[in-house]
Amino acid sequence: MLKEYKNCKICGRVFFKTRYDICPECKRIDDEKFQLVRQFLKEFPGSKINIVSEYTGVSERRILRYLREGKIEILDSDQNFLTCLKCGTPIKTGKYCSQCYRRFCDTVKKLYANPETSNDKSETEARMRFLNRNK
Ligand SMILES: [Zn+2]
Ligand SMILES: [Zn+2]
Repeated sequence: MLKEYKNCKICGRVFFKTRYDICPECKRIDDEKFQLVRQFLKEFPGSKINIVSEYTGVSERRILRYLREGKIEILDSDQNFLTCLKCGTPIKTGKYCSQCYRRFCDTVKKLYANPETSNDKSETEARMRFLNRNK
């Protein structure tokens, strides 16, 4: 049988093929770092990636890889690494934070409530009717 060798994805060393893409030495280090991340997430569930990285010293890239490999589930299911598309505030779900939603609603309300936005009074009234109908 042919022996298969691989280049370690992390250190580039040639090693006898295992089911991993990294050599046994890097695997050992990787496991250690993973344990660190897992321990941290146990203490602080739902922490953001940059926070986890800061406290464990494990690079964000590596943590993201753990996520993709499905090794960490807390971050994944909690989706705490999502940020508001408008202001960048961390959010739990959706696209925008509650503040941006509120700001958006205020803008819409002002737009329809302020008669100055339209010189045509009947048009404003028509809009108001439309808004009331959709309440
Ligand atoms: Zn290696
Ligand atoms: Zn926002």
